Amino acid sequence: MQLKPILVAAAVAAAMGSASAETVDAVVIGSGGAGLSAAVTLHDLGHSVVVLEKMAIIGGNTLRAEGGINAAETPQQKKAGISDTCEQFFADTTKGGHNLNDPELVRTMTTHAKDAVAWLVSLGADLETVGRAGGAKYPRAHRPHDGSAIGPEVVKTLLNASKAREIPIRTRNKALEILTAKDGSVAGVKVQSKDGKVYTIDSKAVVLATGGFGANQDLLVKYQPKLKGYATTNQPGATGDGIFMAEKVGAALVDMEQIQAHPTAAPSGDLISESVRGDGAILVNAEGKRFTNELLTRDVVSNNELKQPGKFAWIIWDDATRRSAKLMDGYEKLGLTVKGKDLDELAKAMQVPADNLKATIAKYSADQKAGKDNEFGRPAMPQPLTNAPYWAVKVQPAVHHTMGGVKINTKAEVINTEGKVIPGLFAAGEVTGGVHGGNRLGGNAQADIVTFGHIAGQTADAFLKANR
Ligand code: ADP
Repeated sequence: MQLKPILVAAAVAAAMGSASAETVDAVVIGSGGAGLSAAVTLHDLGHSVVVLEKMAIIGGNTLRAEGGINAAETPQQKKAGISDTCEQFFADTTKGGHNLNDPELVRTMTTHAKDAVAWLVSLGADLETVGRAGGAKYPRAHRPHDGSAIGPEVVKTLLNASKAREIPIRTRNKALEILTAKDGSVAGVKVQSKDGKVYTIDSKAVVLATGGFGANQDLLVKYQPKLKGYATTNQPGATGDGIFMAEKVGAALVDMEQIQAHPTAAPSGDLISESVRGDGAILVNAEGKRFTNELLTRDVVSNNELKQPGKFAWIIWDDATRRSAKLMDGYEKLGLTVKGKDLDELAKAMQVPADNLKATIAKYSADQKAGKDNEFGRPAMPQPLTNAPYWAVKVQPAVHHTMGGVKINTKAEVINTEGKVIPGLFAAGEVTGGVHGGNRLGGNAQADIVTFGHIAGQTADAFLKANR
């Protein structure tokens, strides 16, 4: 019987007293929505796969996502009588991104997001209802039936699928370096384990899904000096490791200076989802006055907020709005809200002039009834704010999403600085650049990570089959 070369290598290594590298078909770096989507896809296409996660917690920033997953032409939209199209989704995403987006990547996401949603549903996700996020012409943010947060639902679904398939997810295992062969193709990953030991995994395919760099102050300020001192909504592991690793093997980077601030972060960095405004909440300034159409894109609302006295705002909702989505109870539980049994009490808690606040709410509610926001042209006002009690959270812009990153093509292959594919290297999610251009729309992160995570898995499968 002839031993396979790998077994010979292992035997030689064992005889020499050194640990031999393990071999798998594919290594996925990062356990957020993009990484887990790629891992499940690769497994289902017949490959052995290991997921590396440097933090103790699985899920990355995906776990923090609140609003929804955008998709057009879905059965959920049809059931709700929403006549959205992939074409409109494309137009909104491109306009929202100031036309800086890579049109081919946007086309891929907006066409295939409905498949990503259907795939998640087939894995058990509850994406029953559809809400509206800023910059979207139609409601297309799919989320659980009770309006609870999308991120935990996506992570739970993909994690259950990974567990059912016995896909190893190694937490506190940090990828240090992508290893390449002499011809530049991927050969494996160098990893630091929980106990600090460095080991290697041999694999012909690596999917980079390490997320963005929204928690790396130095890198943020390098690309956008005005962000110095900004709070962040990101988990501490969002330090851009994947960008450094990819650069080292020759990957091109795009749009690195495109960094998004989210307008409704509490001072703690906790995010008040854009869907809360979509569900009917308004923003007022320190004088108790509205100052913007609350459903404009994040960059515009953030800029409008920074023009207000003290550079902050209050987001306000009433009891009817609260009942429309479970999220808002969570904010109260987290201690982020002030509350008033009526507007006088709320104004006192917010320390804003009560007369102004009452006039603001009365005007908004009257406009809502008349079906037209005369002041700011807000396109949708789901309900009047007339149902006490009221809640408010003090909010400010905080770094939220890094739109730039590793350059990929529509097949999630990583492109090098000479415009060529790096054989065996794939990337998906926030580590990549180009999908969102100059500004990411709410609900598009989830659409991006699941769509491209799935595609990365499919392309890696084709690559592995062609390079057995
Ligand atoms: P996406 O939304 O693109 O899936 P996430 O932020 O949800 O991105 O997930 C990225 C994950 O990658 C995070 O859990 C993060 O901790 C992890 N990660 C980042 N750098 C490394 C690294 N060097 N090794 C392993 N995991 C990493």
